[in-house]
Amino acid sequence: MERTPLESWIMQKIGMGESQKALERYQLDKLKETISYARKNSVFYKQHLMNIKEDRIDSFDSFQDIPFTFPHHIGQNPFDFVCVPQREIKRIITITSSGTTGEEKRIFFTEADLELTVDFFKYGFKPMLSKQDRVLVLFPGNSYGSVGDVIKKSLDISDVVNFVQGVMVNPDATAKFIIENKINAIVGIPMQVLYFSRIHSEIFKNNIEKVLLSADYVPEVLISELSNIYGCRVFTHYGSSEMGYGGGVECGALNGYHLREADIFFEIIDPDTGKPVEDGQYGEIVFTTLIRQAMPLIRYRTGDIASFSSAPCECGTFLRTMTRALGRADNRVKLGGEQFLYLRELDETILKYKDVLDYKASITDQNLLKIEIATENKAILKDVEESMQTLLYKKLGYKMDFAVIANPDSKPEKIINSMIKRKISDFRGTGI
Ligand SMILES: [Zn+2]
Repeated sequence: MERTPLESWIMQKIGMGESQKALERYQLDKLKETISYARKNSVFYKQHLMNIKEDRIDSFDSFQDIPFTFPHHIGQNPFDFVCVPQREIKRIITITSSGTTGEEKRIFFTEADLELTVDFFKYGFKPMLSKQDRVLVLFPGNSYGSVGDVIKKSLDISDVVNFVQGVMVNPDATAKFIIENKINAIVGIPMQVLYFSRIHSEIFKNNIEKVLLSADYVPEVLISELSNIYGCRVFTHYGSSEMGYGGGVECGALNGYHLREADIFFEIIDPDTGKPVEDGQYGEIVFTTLIRQAMPLIRYRTGDIASFSSAPCECGTFLRTMTRALGRADNRVKLGGEQFLYLRELDETILKYKDVLDYKASITDQNLLKIEIATENKAILKDVEESMQTLLYKKLGYKMDFAVIANPDSKPEKIINSMIKRKISDFRGTGI
């Protein structure tokens, strides 16, 4: 197996010897530079890091004294984060919060910031794609600096034939396009790819050899279905707008991400205490940008859950491996007592039935857990109900009422609303 190409890329970028020690020295220097740059140029960090002396940061331990940056800080006043003149901003991503605050987060990038991601994707795609491949990218790519545009640039540099189509709105048209253009690889959103593979399974069987999934929690049942039934090699990627789209991607071992460690410093912390967790333990992913110009972020709390693998990757790199992210820590609802039901648990329980095309989960104002299933085969509802029963009993130790019903909508939400992150809706109001 080939070692992740990210290793030589990172070492070339940092220009020091090839070792974890050299990388750590580089990261520590860049962390200090970032703090000093952000304090000098951003209104927010001038205030937020008022009491921090960067010359006292001489180890990763002392870096842990730096206060966290939370998403709501950006929501309150995104412009306070900007470190460059307006004319140097080449891309602004607006993220509408799904929470109750209604704040919009804005993330700003200069040309150089976008180039960093193009470069990362170029190397990140290497274990998956070569010049023989023809790739369909199901992410929006019309505007400059959009995720599809950045992916396209990275594939063009590597001479990989690619078509950026935007999120899928018409699966039949997508199927036709795949056949006509001899597509053998797809880059897309997990639930869209799942939906497509279930209504056009022949296409997957006959045409698609490789898939890269990103932008949302990737259900393990989807990975095993695509690999075992259709023989696809399934790569997953982890990233967010705040990271500049890209964060980490799997190597040929397909067992967790290697990270763009020359651009971003990652930590995994206990969300309650804020202290780092041991390798192998799950916690919240926190990151600090190391060379971003427009909007550096320092110890940014992503809300996503993962762990650093305690075993080295099979590919033989010395770089760290992050296990596949488990989705957002707050993507859950309280069931009773201290028990929570997580979206990923529903995914693994419900999506294992191949006749399920999509589903929606909510807790009604009457405190009833409601699962709406998009399916052509109503007989499946009974099976889903039984699996849900088992899941809930295992969590609670008693039987809980819930409803599994067929969703009358002909088109699943993922086709209409694909870029919105999925969540369990809770209509009970506050205080429960
Ligand atoms: Zn590896």
